[in-house]
Amino acid sequence: MPSEYCECKNSTNVFTKINDKGTFDICDDCNKEIEGSFKYFNQHDGKKHDFYDEY
Ligand SMILES: [Zn+2]
Repeated sequence: MPSEYCECKNSTNVFTKINDKGTFDICDDCNKEIEGSFKYFNQHDGKKHDFYDEY
């Protein structure tokens, strides 16, 4: 059963995509999502945010 996520050991490049819930990284080599890369918008967990923190 093929994985829905990128399985490249060393992706040459990734790019970030945005949907209505958050952002996620896509592997440029296979065009699949990087597992665990999804970041939801509006996280209220008190941790440092990678996105929107500058506003
Ligand atoms: Zn890949």
